[in-house]
Amino acid sequence: MNVHDSERLSGLLEDAGLNRKPEELKDEVADVVVFNTCAVRENADNKLYGNLGILKAIKAERPNMQIAVGGCLAQKDRDTILKKAPWVDVVFGTHNIGSLPTLLARSEHNKQAELEILESLDVFPSTLPTRRESVYAGWVSISVGCNNTCTFCIVPSLRGKERDRRPGEILAEIQALVDDGAIEVTLLGQNVNSYGVEFGDRLAFGKLLRACGEIEGLERVRFTSPHPAAFTDDVIEAMAETPNVMPQLHMPLQSGSDKVLKDMRRSYRSKKFLGILDKVRERIPHAAITTDIIVGFPGETEEDFQATLDVVEASRFSSAFTFQYSKRPGTPAANLDDQLPKAVVQERYERLTALQDRIAKEENAKQLGRTVEVMVTEQSGRKAEETHRLAGRAQDQRLVHFSVPPTAEVPRPGDLVTLPITEVAAFHLISDPELEQYSLRRSRAGDAWDRSQAESCGVPTPGASSTPGRTSLGMPTLKVRS
Ligand code: SF4
Repeated sequence: MNVHDSERLSGLLEDAGLNRKPEELKDEVADVVVFNTCAVRENADNKLYGNLGILKAIKAERPNMQIAVGGCLAQKDRDTILKKAPWVDVVFGTHNIGSLPTLLARSEHNKQAELEILESLDVFPSTLPTRRESVYAGWVSISVGCNNTCTFCIVPSLRGKERDRRPGEILAEIQALVDDGAIEVTLLGQNVNSYGVEFGDRLAFGKLLRACGEIEGLERVRFTSPHPAAFTDDVIEAMAETPNVMPQLHMPLQSGSDKVLKDMRRSYRSKKFLGILDKVRERIPHAAITTDIIVGFPGETEEDFQATLDVVEASRFSSAFTFQYSKRPGTPAANLDDQLPKAVVQERYERLTALQDRIAKEENAKQLGRTVEVMVTEQSGRKAEETHRLAGRAQDQRLVHFSVPPTAEVPRPGDLVTLPITEVAAFHLISDPELEQYSLRRSRAGDAWDRSQAESCGVPTPGASSTPGRTSLGMPTLKVRS
């Protein structure tokens, strides 16, 4: 969600006439620096104030430089940021990212810091210009906020209650992305399968997936994140019956202990969770399922933790985001008495990650010899120079590093290659195909990538959209219904 908000902030600033600092000037300091903060991870504030401290000395030498801080931490800390770092020029929250250019201009004009935090969303952020990081795949928000009250989570207090976009607006944004060359979209929401609650259609998410299946040229549809409590069979059916919905599911477990789930105020239990995975695998046999897990929630006993290990063993996740519980001031769990010692949490965390790494490797081993279709990405990975491999994502979202046979055509980001998996590791797959095993499908997304490269050098290209580069205008402004 924050990454997508950063795309909007970039689009807004480019629309206001600013330019992104080119890579070759990376050692120079920009005229405007914007921090889009996240409060979900531990130590977000330490990192922010550390970075602001570094900029203090630079700003003393360059008083016209502007520094803005937005996002969840700004929404939470508000004027504390200006008290701790009075050299910051603008503080804005999660509900008014569209105000950034105005606040920067006002601060410059008035020669004083501007603070603006709204308590609720005024305009749905998809109406803002967006500078997409990728031309071949895009994020599309279907809702913002969350109506749940998980006791460890700061999101509802910072992002507010769930607000749903109308399906027609979402589909129009997807169509606009596809028209610009994208072949993949990821539908975004704090809790995607409660989508529709605001306009009274409990089946709205499954219907939206099916409607995505009707969009010509859209080859890959993903979504994140669902919630096990509200994950219904109609969504599984829609996934199974809509060919462009990818065989992948991110289903946050958080804990395998029913007692801990109750304390977390997560209304499903481990049996229901495992039942969902069974149904998904029955209908979509090759689905790769990933998850989030928190270790060391207050009051978690060794028995509770063992229950998590048991569910992880049974779930066969292809990968997992694992976290050590740490207090988030302002959340109910932060006030619980039975917080666990760090050493206990660390030791459990290591046991969990060792188990999950083993399972991930075993699950990846099942991919050996399979032929997969990979959408090539711009990032080739840290070892690319050494291995000369490119990288991309399989349909099930697994990361694949692959080599191009010597006489074969090299794909562009956004193109699709089909190849066999020849080696596996815990976190990625490798393919070193022979020429006859390698096939390349040049795609509209690859063409769009070519155009974006040419446009970034100022070369006009046929078929380019009227909006140059990766910045698209926002969707027509529609007020959020109150
Ligand atoms: S469902 Fe997700 S976003 Fe909502 S409160 Fe729970 S953890 Fe936070």
